Amino acid sequence: MKFDRLRLNGFKSFVDPTDLVIREGLTGVVGPNGCGKSNLLEALRWVMGENRPTAMRGEGMEDVIFAGTSRRGARAHAEVTLTIDNRERLAPASVNDADGIDIVRRITRDAGSAYRINGKDARARDVQMLFADASTGAHSPALVRQGQISELINARPKSRRRILEEAAGISGLYARRHEAELKLNSAEANLSRVDDTLDQLA
Ligand code: ATP
Repeated sequence: MKFDRLRLNGFKSFVDPTDLVIREGLTGVVGPNGCGKSNLLEALRWVMGENRPTAMRGEGMEDVIFAGTSRRGARAHAEVTLTIDNRERLAPASVNDADGIDIVRRITRDAGSAYRINGKDARARDVQMLFADASTGAHSPALVRQGQISELINARPKSRRRILEEAAGISGLYARRHEAELKLNSAEANLSRVDDTLDQLA
């Protein structure tokens, strides 16, 4: 899955619409302290479905919306769009019929987040599964934030295994297994309710 472009609008310090073209190969972001390097990486994680405010260095998810400065007022919403180049048809089957895939996440104060995949409303789970199936996502080891290398060196074996599983592309299978277990549990609960009803009728 090749990321083509990241578009930010009202996300943290990126108050004006900003386009970042992502070229082939490894991408490094450089710039003076406080210019927004980490905000860019956070925008990428956020549009892929990150749901922990702490991972965005905030207390609540609305903290990602431009908070205003002495010269500019706060914004009411933030939006990030990630465009994926799908000309090689590497995307998961559910979205594999287009050359490009636009994933949009928008957050509005007091109204929470909404997602769209190629213009159609989607759930956070749909977006997370899309990336998990492609062995990437908000927790992908391909996105290296500041301090992560030393964390990795000092990590416990269990955390290191998670990183290896992500890299091996099996984390999507864990998510699907979890989903299947939830469905199974709910089917079992329904069955036992049917049994109770049948007992009462007998
Ligand atoms: P460093 O090299 O010091 O780690 P950086 O380039 O990674 O810095 P970021 O941490 O991405 O910089 O950006 C920090 C800037 O983003 C700060 O100026 C901070 O005020 C601004 N910022 C963060 N959240 C918001 C927000 N919700 N609204 C407006 N500005 C914000």
